Amino acid sequence: MSDDDLFQPLGGNEMPRFAGPGTMMRLPAADNAAGLDACFIGIPLDVGTSNRPGTRFGPKQIRAESVMLRPYNMWTRAAPFDSLRIADIGDVPINTFDLKDAVHRIEVFYDNVLTNSVIPMTLGGDHTLTLPVLRSIAKKHGPVGLVHIDAHADINEHMFGESIAHGTPFRRAFEEGLIDPDYTFQIGLRGTGYTAEDFDWARDKGFTVVQAEELWHKSATPLIDSIRAKMVTRPVYLTFDIDSLDPAFAPGTGTPEIGGLTSIQAVELIRGCQGLNLVGCDLVEVSPPYDLQGNTALLAANLIFEMLCVLPGVGYRMSD
Ligand code: MN
Ligand code: MN
Repeated sequence: MSDDDLFQPLGGNEMPRFAGPGTMMRLPAADNAAGLDACFIGIPLDVGTSNRPGTRFGPKQIRAESVMLRPYNMWTRAAPFDSLRIADIGDVPINTFDLKDAVHRIEVFYDNVLTNSVIPMTLGGDHTLTLPVLRSIAKKHGPVGLVHIDAHADINEHMFGESIAHGTPFRRAFEEGLIDPDYTFQIGLRGTGYTAEDFDWARDKGFTVVQAEELWHKSATPLIDSIRAKMVTRPVYLTFDIDSLDPAFAPGTGTPEIGGLTSIQAVELIRGCQGLNLVGCDLVEVSPPYDLQGNTALLAANLIFEMLCVLPGVGYRMSD
């Protein structure tokens, strides 16, 4: 691939950061994923939420806060735009009046995206969206390993009698064989529950559950190093619920829980995914109406950049 084939984010010296395109990282917009190595996709969904709504505004606000992102990772030295062709292909036209139809539309959209050899990077949207994305991913890659970072297990049997909602995707994904339970890792779980079953159902099925308390006052690097060693070369999907972070860092979300991850631990977890065979990733549950300072969306934008920096094929700029 020649350099001419690569896209670059629009720099702050070419157009002020408060102006210019509204795409993720001010990248070029594309109509579809043809010819791309990775693509950003927004899913403006909040009709799967159970408490505070507002995640329908997540993709737009994450893109808005992404204007400050520069293309090079000053610590890891990753330079994703040097080697990968990346663009923003816009939003999935969900049906906001019908969650089941929205879920169907998401699956069809990703089926189309995945006719290309591309890694989808999803801006959510509530966590319901990961189910149809995984349905599509599993058609292409088979059952995937899962790194699921969240305050919640999202393994309810039903919510208010419904099988599809933002608290059920990973039970459905298990039942449908979309994820390999022996390679499913849920990190950051905490808060109050109804019964011990809330987390033990997952353990019984073979998931590895790491509760937030196990990470208190610690680096998260040894944990993610051990997960990476177990995954080896299998295809892995990374799903990151912003409520995994403490509300001090991420107040703008629908179901906050105290005692959560720090922003530093979140960065450690994502950086530790370098070397995994990532086939897709998402960041979900940013709710701008509850994000009064914009910090939650800013954090989300930065975490998505960190995800981009660990995709397979990303090169590094070392000193001469
Ligand atoms: Mn979740
Ligand atoms: Mn959650």
